Amino acid sequence: MCQHHDMHTVIKKSRHRLELPLFFLTAFLTIATFLVVLALSFYKQETLEFTQDITVAQYRDAHKEAKGMTDTQILDSLSEDERELIGYVERINPLLVLLAPVGFLLLIIYQIGKLYGGVRADGVRVGPNQFGEVYKIWAEMAQKLGLKKTPELYIQNGSGALNAFATCLPGYRSFGVVYSDILERALANNDEKSLRFILGHELGHVRYNHVTWWYNMLNIIGNMPGFNYIIGMPLSRSREYGCDKLGAMLSEDTEQRGLLMLAAGKHLYRQVNAEAYYAEHVYNRSYWGAVSNFFNDHPSINWRISALQQNKHGSLIWDNGKKK
Ligand SMILES: [Zn+2]
Repeated sequence: MCQHHDMHTVIKKSRHRLELPLFFLTAFLTIATFLVVLALSFYKQETLEFTQDITVAQYRDAHKEAKGMTDTQILDSLSEDERELIGYVERINPLLVLLAPVGFLLLIIYQIGKLYGGVRADGVRVGPNQFGEVYKIWAEMAQKLGLKKTPELYIQNGSGALNAFATCLPGYRSFGVVYSDILERALANNDEKSLRFILGHELGHVRYNHVTWWYNMLNIIGNMPGFNYIIGMPLSRSREYGCDKLGAMLSEDTEQRGLLMLAAGKHLYRQVNAEAYYAEHVYNRSYWGAVSNFFNDHPSINWRISALQQNKHGSLIWDNGKKK
């Protein structure tokens, strides 16, 4: 088997098994919602009458004195709040509905453009003549993952925060950002594994198309308040697990020092006793840990370490802490 084919299989297998099902669910709901609202906008009069009927019926249920009133009288006496839904329907029109995705795309372009402008303005671009050894690692891993173009990479002053992210200016330019403290310690400690893990994880987001504009647009409903806890955040956590797998594969970091850096900080992570950590945090379930995980778009660090240690698809909602 050729090497290229091998890598393709590894990338496919590394993706969390629930990522695509959750993504298709949110994409389906987003498209369906759009089509329903579009259809309603074409039948505005009917939709308006239907909405008025519902509102009047609700009003009659809630107010005993409404018994003798006609529908028109009730509609006239509605408060601002009670009229809210009717107001929405009155404003709806097909052109507005069709323009909504365009508006959303412009919003994405604006937000990421601002982010990109920020790192261009205040960060340092890594390249062959700027932290060349880091660039070499980055470019080589991008190539390994089969990316046609090496994404740009920037260092940003994190003022102590340990973070990295990747994103993409809609259509053409994906870029990664690594906060200065991660790079500073990795270089000072000669810790290439952790650096590779963190950078490889970010390249994973690019490789899996998590950073594209269409991915974000199809995920609108999943990120709506309420839906975010059952779709958007679990989906986000599944993305992280997949990218962790790629980062671990590219770094051959078998002790998960890259993740321990997030847990114990940029200095202490090297002294963490891995075995004691696994016994305490990995092979030990925690109810409150699950609560913390539930409200986070990244999985708990110990679950991420557990997924890599046991080479399993990480837990999205609950981890029983059992050895695989
Ligand atoms: Zn990530």
